[in-house]
Amino acid sequence: MTYDLFIELTAKLARWCNKNLNDTQREIYWEAIKKIPDKAFEDIIDTLIGEIPPSGKLPKPDDISLQWFYWRQAHPDSVTPEYKQTWCNECDGDGIFSVWYQDYIVPKNQIPPGKDPDKFISWYRMFVPCSKCQNWKRQFPTKGPCRPKRFYTRLDILSMGWRLTDPCFDNKNKLQTPLKKDLNQLVDIAVNDMDAELLRIEKEVLNGK
Ligand SMILES: [Zn+2]
Repeated sequence: MTYDLFIELTAKLARWCNKNLNDTQREIYWEAIKKIPDKAFEDIIDTLIGEIPPSGKLPKPDDISLQWFYWRQAHPDSVTPEYKQTWCNECDGDGIFSVWYQDYIVPKNQIPPGKDPDKFISWYRMFVPCSKCQNWKRQFPTKGPCRPKRFYTRLDILSMGWRLTDPCFDNKNKLQTPLKKDLNQLVDIAVNDMDAELLRIEKEVLNGK
């Protein structure tokens, strides 16, 4: 997996368990689980957070490795993709989009009374499948209950208030960005973020061409 995603998701897990990982612990986790692909690691962290009560015990690297084993059992197609990649203008053939979205770092009902809820908002990252091609089958499980429920175009993603680029790159502090933006604002941000070709595609979509 990518180191950035590892840092992001282990921090999320530690936060959920109300623990702090020091550098040595983080290194032990990294060595033990770095072979897990990004998408699988995201699912695994979601599963663990779903199973552990808030402030519960932090899973050990072995617990995560066990979840990786379960994940491979459940998603044989993702480990050995049987689908050939095709060209796609929407996702550049990746089949998925890496998106950033904002959410509360604790369940909303756990925000202390009198505190500003906006102070508990942070950016998260996830992957969503492209609606214009079948390449998502190379990345997402194709059988069972984990099949994607919804597919996205770039414009769908922006309409959700999500971003296609890392908000850290343009120093968008997590607390300075309002949770909801109107579509035009989002497109303005995207225009600044993306290269000229993507800009052209989005403008055309927006203009209904
Ligand atoms: Zn696509």
